[in-house]
Amino acid sequence: MRNIGLYLHFPFCLRKCYYCDFLSYQGMKEWIEPYINALCTELREWKQHLSDCRVQTIYLGGGTPTIISAEKLAYVLDVCTSSFHVQENAEITIEGNPGTIRREQLSLLKRAGVNRLSIGLQAWQAKHLETLGRIHGSEDFVNSVDMARNAGFDNINVDVMFGLPDQTLDEWMETLNRVCMLGIEHVSMYSLKVEEGTMLHTWFSQGKICLPTHEEDRNMYYSGRDFLCQHGLEQYEISNFALPGRESSHNLIYWNNEEYIGCGNGAHSHFNNERFSNLSHIKDYIDAVITGTSRIEYRERISEADQRFETIMLNLRMVKGISKKSFAQRFGKDIHYYYGDVIRKLVDKKLLVEDEEYIRLTLRGMDVQNSVLLEFMD
Ligand code: SF4
Repeated sequence: MRNIGLYLHFPFCLRKCYYCDFLSYQGMKEWIEPYINALCTELREWKQHLSDCRVQTIYLGGGTPTIISAEKLAYVLDVCTSSFHVQENAEITIEGNPGTIRREQLSLLKRAGVNRLSIGLQAWQAKHLETLGRIHGSEDFVNSVDMARNAGFDNINVDVMFGLPDQTLDEWMETLNRVCMLGIEHVSMYSLKVEEGTMLHTWFSQGKICLPTHEEDRNMYYSGRDFLCQHGLEQYEISNFALPGRESSHNLIYWNNEEYIGCGNGAHSHFNNERFSNLSHIKDYIDAVITGTSRIEYRERISEADQRFETIMLNLRMVKGISKKSFAQRFGKDIHYYYGDVIRKLVDKKLLVEDEEYIRLTLRGMDVQNSVLLEFMD
């Protein structure tokens, strides 16, 4: 059986955050019911194509899935388990935001098989949450963790961001400290990107907000990395840290360049040597599913050379790097057959290290990851 991951997209949020360019809609509650029906139809349509696949992970992402009733989410999971071979003890994650997470909902989701909760905190301080347009305060976050623990969740991720407007290093460290004090199992930390089309971008262009310099941003990254490691959360990917055994199995599927199916509007898939994505607009997606017309917005066949490069690009995001054995098993030849000169050159420059089993980025290599990848591309 082939192993796959399953991503389910829920594009609804109470309010659009000021930095957000994800595929999510503010309000639009009346669309939830037809959307869930379309999503379930899509899942059932996949059944015949995935009969030889074992679903190892399910990820309910968004958007904010936790604004949808637990009964509806449990129903979607039920469609998954009745349509596919879902592995026993599959990692099933739901994303949620403080202020939308409720006690009864968590208990029901737990009973429905959800065993991992990913909470978007982003920052501890009220002023930063306000600048980001978040709907919650830090006390809502603490309550969410508390409710999750009471409901039996022993695997919680927290998303946090650094490089925020006017953020100091002390404030960033306070955010991480608060997270660690709660004994969180997994932390994802990302530098804020001011994306075009967002409120934050408008304010930035108008000179209304001031971002940390590149050096300050990097300093926050290094300090954050060291702090989390000192608190027992091991770095296993550029932006991800976990207690031993609590790494995200779902994200590891992406970084190992393995196969996954994405369902819902705009969801991406990697399957049968193709990458494809669904129609982005919610109405177009629902109409296509209802009428049985193509819901695909984009499809690309991936050549073997591209598969090799993508494997390297994604594997190098992980601290352990590229497994030489897995690479050879997948592509039929030793990695040096394809990239021997490049690897030697990058090892000489101290951007890569190689041992018996793995090839990985050095700390310096991580900082200039893009130029390392360009060498492999050439
Ligand atoms: S909660 Fe997440 S998906 Fe929703 S608007 Fe905010 S950042 Fe975007």
